[in-house]
Amino acid sequence: AAPRVVVIGGGFGGASLARALKREDPGIAVALIEPSGHYTACPLSNAVIAGMREMKAQHFGYAGIEDDGIVHIQQKAVRVEPDQRRVVLADEVRLSYDRLVVAPGIDLNFEAIPGYDEAATQLMPHAWKAGEQTLLLRRQLEAMEDGGLVVISAPANPFRCPPGPYERASLIAHYLKTHKPRSKILILDAKDAFSKQRLFEAGWGALYPGMIEWVGLSFGGAVTGVDAGTRTLRTEFGEHRAAVANIIPPQRAGAIAALAGVADRTGWCPIDPVTFESRLVPDIHVIGDAAIGGAMPKSAFTANAQAKACASAVIALLRGRDPGEPKLINTCYSLLAPDYGISIAGVYTPQNGLLAEVDGAGGTSPLDAPAAVRAEEAAYGEAWFETITTEAFG
Ligand code: FAD
Repeated sequence: AAPRVVVIGGGFGGASLARALKREDPGIAVALIEPSGHYTACPLSNAVIAGMREMKAQHFGYAGIEDDGIVHIQQKAVRVEPDQRRVVLADEVRLSYDRLVVAPGIDLNFEAIPGYDEAATQLMPHAWKAGEQTLLLRRQLEAMEDGGLVVISAPANPFRCPPGPYERASLIAHYLKTHKPRSKILILDAKDAFSKQRLFEAGWGALYPGMIEWVGLSFGGAVTGVDAGTRTLRTEFGEHRAAVANIIPPQRAGAIAALAGVADRTGWCPIDPVTFESRLVPDIHVIGDAAIGGAMPKSAFTANAQAKACASAVIALLRGRDPGEPKLINTCYSLLAPDYGISIAGVYTPQNGLLAEVDGAGGTSPLDAPAAVRAEEAAYGEAWFETITTEAFG
């Protein structure tokens, strides 16, 4: 019989992996479990919040995946039975696998910030899973009066999309500068440094002087509780009352990872950096945001790169060959304004059981660059989005 691979999660990781498997070895039967009929992409969703882009540009269907001969099972995986190598679906149907790939992305950790629960997200959106939350934050900004205070709270590492909160602050500033110029943005951060910090701060100084204030951990940036009703954020140093509050809480691997036994006490999934096989349960691989195994940041670029490396390893293991050592690349573009982009890139290889960054192989955009370079990078970011979504969804 054909070897069977079951994939949980049809996001950047799972969709890219399912397609890479079929492309490299059409003899493998691949089933993709994803409850949604279409995927809503997070990259560029900050531009939707700022009114620069429409939500429908973030939607991708699964028809291309089905055309490749992959079976899309439109259900949620609710359990895994590793001893029998079976996945249990919401309707209690069981699917057998030879290898399982778990790619459920993140869940928000609602125990982390007192007062910030599922109900509070309707008043203080996180917008960290693109969809209704993205549109809610956009509507709140549109409804806010000129002169209002927008507060964004950013979590400690690790979390989905390290430059994401700062790109969001930038694009909200772009919206406010154009529509509500007396307004201000306060970023409360649970860490003392962030991705591309010097580039962001230089850009804020040039584009939005005096509009964005960033408060790191040492100066009272960690949010210790919220009151959603009054849009109040508490820190050890005092309280902030917001006109619009965007809470990006700490995160962990999507719930099915813990149910499958592949998440450890940190909430993330330790993996072997060569095969992406779980360190906790055999025959289960984990890729994308849910996985943790070194220095690779949690991004769509990473999820796609891990998907391709993992697909090759899974094929090698199923066909009795040695999986080769992968070399993975990540690049994260961020927009500070429609024609102002910056980027960070890195190369990663297995080293001492972890994915380590190759010294000197990556880098960021230059700190001093003419406007033409920033405009070019903004265009590269958009081109990258086209490429990666075509690769993942067809
Ligand atoms: P996801 O894309 O979240 O996919 C997980 C899928 O699994 C979902 O479709 C979900 O429905 C499904 N699923 C979950 N549980 C189950 C279950 N039990 N059964 C079946 N299916 C399940 N990355 C970049 O590279 N560049 C960017 O510019 C960028 N910008 C971003 C901006 C913002 C505001 C945010 C929030 C993120 C951004 N990212 C960016 C990060 C990127 O979106 C994520 O890193 C990426 O989506 C991770 O892919 P994934 O496949 O691991 O998870």
